[in-house]
Amino acid sequence: MSVADKFKPKERKMKMWSNGKIIVAPKNITSLNFVLHYGSPAVWEGIRCYRQNDGTSEIFRLHHHINRFFDSAKIINLNIPFSKSDLLEACKALIAANGGGDLYIRPIAYSNQDAESVRSKNGHAVNVDIYTFPIPPLHDRKEGGIRVIVSSHRRGYPQFQMQAKTPANYTFSQLAKSEMEMAHVDDVFFMDNQGFVVEATVANIFVIKDGLVFTPPNNGSILEGITRATMLEMFLDTGNLFRHHKQVIQGVGEKNITRADLYTADEVFICGTYAEVVPVVEIDGRKIGDGKPGQLTKMVQNDYQKLVRGIR
Ligand code: PMP
Repeated sequence: MSVADKFKPKERKMKMWSNGKIIVAPKNITSLNFVLHYGSPAVWEGIRCYRQNDGTSEIFRLHHHINRFFDSAKIINLNIPFSKSDLLEACKALIAANGGGDLYIRPIAYSNQDAESVRSKNGHAVNVDIYTFPIPPLHDRKEGGIRVIVSSHRRGYPQFQMQAKTPANYTFSQLAKSEMEMAHVDDVFFMDNQGFVVEATVANIFVIKDGLVFTPPNNGSILEGITRATMLEMFLDTGNLFRHHKQVIQGVGEKNITRADLYTADEVFICGTYAEVVPVVEIDGRKIGDGKPGQLTKMVQNDYQKLVRGIR
């Protein structure tokens, strides 16, 4: 039985939040929906709730996600008909209504007009729904590291829109899927128009070489991940989580990354809310380091689990 099958029956029973109410049945949208035809205007977020060490449930970085939800909406000019605090409370109420635990949370705001014309109507109705479903614990997912290739598709256009979490941007994931299948790899890395490697399909990239930790800058071609920010904080916070790694980390920061930087790195990992921290052990057929998950990557994986689960 696949992990997806294991979690399916429960998933169908999950309650959702829809325009202010917690309801049981998911509603259907019509195939004439504007967003289905034009990929916009709509925005979404991917958030995780974790069962804590003490048995309670906590949504990790909820404020950050709700802020980015509103930023995405601003970028694509979508008016969300709820306040930030409404949606913060909605996420918490939905988790409580579903009994808490390890859950993925998916808010989406979308235009509910018909696709009669490509030009959206002024004052069109905007729906806000929040779904949640169980997420398998890390140990149920793929162990070890992943193999990737650099994609032939470029992610650098249209520049500013990559910073919005809007469905149209995920055409890239679909393009990547066929490349992944053809190359029999687990993910792809995208380059921007200048040829710098910017991010994975739904995760940001970190490269470690000679004690230096770097990640591509937000020059408009990446989604500025909340996990990426957490990683930077963890690496920089030498007084706290990384106190014991201090001697091996000489510097942390943003830097343009070339394919050569990747091939010659000691360690590479990707990170995102769903993926958490995943070691990359092969890129374009080259082994990274010794072809096994790197030591610092394993440490950060471990420390991230402690952080999200409230373990000191
Ligand atoms: N880039 C893209 C394109 C993504 O979809 C995601 C997942 N949200 C990320 C990066 C990682 O972002 P975060 O850490 O906020 O989940």
